[in-house]
Amino acid sequence: MSDCLFCKIIDGDIPSDKVFEDDQVIAFKDINPRAAVHLLVIPRIHIDNLDHLTAEHQMLIGHIMYILPQLARSQGLVNGFRTIINTGPDGGQEVGHLHIHILGGQGLSSFN
Ligand code: 5GP
Ligand code: ZN
Repeated sequence: MSDCLFCKIIDGDIPSDKVFEDDQVIAFKDINPRAAVHLLVIPRIHIDNLDHLTAEHQMLIGHIMYILPQLARSQGLVNGFRTIINTGPDGGQEVGHLHIHILGGQGLSSFN
């Protein structure tokens, strides 16, 4: 999608602090970190959000879930981490390209 911020990051039109990439995903540091470590993991293909998944995305989603703990460990999060996926306006989603937040390090409050 030409007007999608994260597609522009994938294409290199907007710079990012990339920490990982493979043929299906890239991961980069959030520009406004809410924790000591705050990564965004996104598929290379444009998917608006979880509400737009189809059956053909199942392998991709499985791959993303599989690499999340590896990414977290690679950033020093050896004692656990938090993942967040905001979906749609009522879910607080600001960027309309599916992304998984990985948060960790010092200062994570309890989630309740
Ligand atoms: P959402 O609220 O949609 O789940 O999260 C979007 C995230 O994207 C926010 O945490 C925000 O800080 C991050 N973000 C927005 N624009 C940019 C950008 O240009 N570069 C990077 N690295 N992160 C961004
Ligand atoms: Zn996109």
